[in-house]
Amino acid sequence: MNFSIFTFMPRSNILAQRIEFIKGVGEAKAKVFAAELGVRTVEDMLQVFPFRYDDRSRFGLIKDARNGDAVQLKGILISLGRVRMKRGSRLKGAFKDPSGIVELTWFQGAKWLEETLQIGTEYVLYGKVKVYQGQKTIAHPEMETLAKSQQQSAFLPVYPSTTVLDKKNVGQRSRRNIVMRIFESLTKEDFPEVLPTSIAEKLRLCHRYYAYKWIHFPENEEQRQQASNRLKFEELFFLQLRILQTKKQREQKFKGFVFEKVGDYFNRFYKEKLSFALTGAQKRVMKEIRYDLGSEVQMNRLLQGDVGSGKTIVALMSMLIALDNGYQACLLAPTEILAQQHFLSISESLKGIGVQCAFLSGSVKGKTRGQLLMMLKEGHIDILIGTHAILEDPVQFKKLGLAVTDEQHRFGVAQRAKLWTKNEHIPPHILVMTATPIPRTLAMTTYGDLDVSIIDELPPGRKPVATVHRREADRMRIIKFMKREIAKGRQIYVVYPLIEESEKLDLENLDQGYQELLNYFPLPEYQIAVVHGRMKPRDKDMEMNRFASGRAHIMVATTVIEVGVNVPNASIMIIEDASRFGLSQLHQLRGRVGRGADQSYCVLMTKAGLSQNARERIQTMCRTNDGFEIAEVDMKLRGPGDIEGTQQSGIVELKIANIVNDVQIMQTARHFAIEILNKDVDLKLPEHEILAREMNKLKSKNQS
Ligand code: ADP
Ligand code: MG
Repeated sequence: MNFSIFTFMPRSNILAQRIEFIKGVGEAKAKVFAAELGVRTVEDMLQVFPFRYDDRSRFGLIKDARNGDAVQLKGILISLGRVRMKRGSRLKGAFKDPSGIVELTWFQGAKWLEETLQIGTEYVLYGKVKVYQGQKTIAHPEMETLAKSQQQSAFLPVYPSTTVLDKKNVGQRSRRNIVMRIFESLTKEDFPEVLPTSIAEKLRLCHRYYAYKWIHFPENEEQRQQASNRLKFEELFFLQLRILQTKKQREQKFKGFVFEKVGDYFNRFYKEKLSFALTGAQKRVMKEIRYDLGSEVQMNRLLQGDVGSGKTIVALMSMLIALDNGYQACLLAPTEILAQQHFLSISESLKGIGVQCAFLSGSVKGKTRGQLLMMLKEGHIDILIGTHAILEDPVQFKKLGLAVTDEQHRFGVAQRAKLWTKNEHIPPHILVMTATPIPRTLAMTTYGDLDVSIIDELPPGRKPVATVHRREADRMRIIKFMKREIAKGRQIYVVYPLIEESEKLDLENLDQGYQELLNYFPLPEYQIAVVHGRMKPRDKDMEMNRFASGRAHIMVATTVIEVGVNVPNASIMIIEDASRFGLSQLHQLRGRVGRGADQSYCVLMTKAGLSQNARERIQTMCRTNDGFEIAEVDMKLRGPGDIEGTQQSGIVELKIANIVNDVQIMQTARHFAIEILNKDVDLKLPEHEILAREMNKLKSKNQS
C-alpha cells in the first residue's frame, strides 16, 4: 500500500520534506507559505498551530440565518450553473435544507468547483450569509460532502493567516486539507520521542504523534487539552534547557573572584553608619549575595525590589565587601541625575571610613577626566559611580571586583556583557538591580540566566500611596489640595509625558502647564522648579537641587524623574495626561512619592475619551500598589512582544506556549531542566542523548 502524499518524493523522513512536493501545494503556493509564514517543510507546516477551532458539530437552519451570520448548514445542492455577466461569468447555485433555500455564488476560481460539485448530493456548507432584498446569499461557501465531513473532527482548526494567503486562495479550507493530507501518510514512527521517558511518564504526556494530530484535529476538548499540554511543555522545556545550559556552562568556564572575608569597610559602615535596621528581606538578600561572592563562581544576580524597597544599601554593602577583599567596585545608573544622586548619597554615607568615591559621566571632561582615569587605573579610586560613560573602553580599572547596574531595564544585554570585559582574565561579579517588577515568566526567560534575589518587603512605616483618577473638571479642586499640602510643608511633583515623536509638542504642553501653575502659585510665595530632557545637565541639576533641598515647592518635570530620584519630603505626584504612560512607567513615577512618613498621594489626570486599554491601566493603578500585580497586568495589556528584553531571548518566537498564561507549565519545565542539568550539564549521559540531539536540531534551525 502506498499512501504517499508526495508527487515523487520517497516516504522516508516525511517531516523534513519541502512542502512544494505535497500534492495540491506546488511551487507557487510553497513560495507564498515560505514568504508569509516561514513554512518550508512539512514539519514547519505542522508547527503552525491553530489559534482557535470552529465547532462544526452544530448546524443552523437557513430560515434562522440573519444578515452577516456565519453559519454551518446541512442540505442538498439543487442547482448549479454559469450566469453571464457584463464581464465574464459567475457561478451560481441553490442550496436547500429542511427550512428553506439559500443562493450560492462564486466570483472567481470556480472552474474546478463547477466540475466537482454535484447536484443532488448532500453537503455540509459553511459561510457568511448576506440578505439583500429578502434574498439570502452566501458567497464563496466552504463545501464538503456530508460523507467526507462526517469523517472529520467536529472541531475544525482555524490557522493564523495573512491577507496575502487569503488572496492567493490559500484559505482555511485549503490549509486544513493540506494538513489533513499530511497526516494521511504519517504514522507514530514519524514522531520519535524527544523527551526522556521518565519525564513523559511522570507528566503523563501523550505520544507526540497524537499531540500533533490532536492539536490540528481534536475530536473533543480533552484531546485538544492533552495535545496542547504536551506541545507547550516540550517547547518550554527546551527553551529552559537552552537558557540554563548556557548559564551553567558559562559558570564552569569563567571562574569568579573569591571574596573570602567581610572586613573593616563593611563592618564600620554597618556599625557606625547604618542608621536603621535592615529589613528581613534585605538581610536575606545580603546573605545570598555574600554566598555568591564567597563561592568560586562569578556572580550574575538580578536584584528585584519595588521602588523604595532599599536596594541601594544592599548594593553599597556588596561593594564594600569587594573593597574589603582588595578590589574596586562600580555602580552604573541610567541617567546623569540618578548617578549624581547615588554619588552624593553614597559619598555621604561613607564619610570618615576612608573610601575613595568618584563620579564619571559624559559631562566629566578634559583634565579632570584624565586625572580620574589615571587614578582609577592605578587603583586609587575604590568606588566609581556614573552613567554609561563607565562602559567606554578608556575607562580601565586596576582590579574591578563588582559591577552594579541600577534600573537594569534601561540597560541592554549588550551593556551587561560589556562589563564582563573590564578585567582581562576574570570578569567582575555582576549585580543588576531593577525596580520594574519582572513578571515571573520573564524572570525565567529573558533574565533566566541570572540568579534572582527579591526584596519583597518595604522598610517599616511606609504607607501605600493613595491613588485617584481625576479629570480636567476637577482641576480647581486639585489646585486647592496642592495648596493645602504645601501649607503642611509637603512638596509636589507634576509630571508631563514625553514621547519622542512628539517631543516638541510635549515640551509645549509642559511649558503651558508651568505657566498655568505660575498663575495659581505665584512668586515669591511659591517656588516652582522645572526639569526636562532638553536641558543642559548643569541646569537640570540646579533645578533638581532646588527641589531636593526643599527650596522649591513644586517640581514640573517630564519623565526624567521616572527613575530613582529620592526626595522623601515630596509626597504628591500629579501625572498629567496619564493615559499616555505605560503601566510600569506610571508605577515607577508613583514610586517617587511615599518615601517619607507622611501619607502620600498620586493623582492621575486624564482628558476625555479613554481607550479601554487606558482605562484598565488607570484602574489598575488606583486599585493596587503591588508592583508584581501591576507587571502582570502590564504584560497582559501590552503583549510580550512589546516588553523589553523579549526580543533577545527568543521567547517572542514561541509557537504554541504563551508567556503570559503558561507560567505553571514554564515552572514545571524549568524544574525538570534544572534536575537534568545538575546531573549532566553537557547532556553526555546515554539517557540524555535524545535531548542533546533535539537541542542540536533546534539550534541549527534557529541559525538557518
Ligand atoms: P530603591 O529600592 O527604590 O532603590 P532606595 O535604596 O533608594 O530604594 O531606598 C529608599 C529609601 O529607603 C532611602 O531613603 C533609604 O535610605 C531608605 N531605606 C532603605 N532601607 C531601609 C530600612 N531597612 N529601613 C528604613 N529605611 C530604609
Ligand atoms: Mg533605587
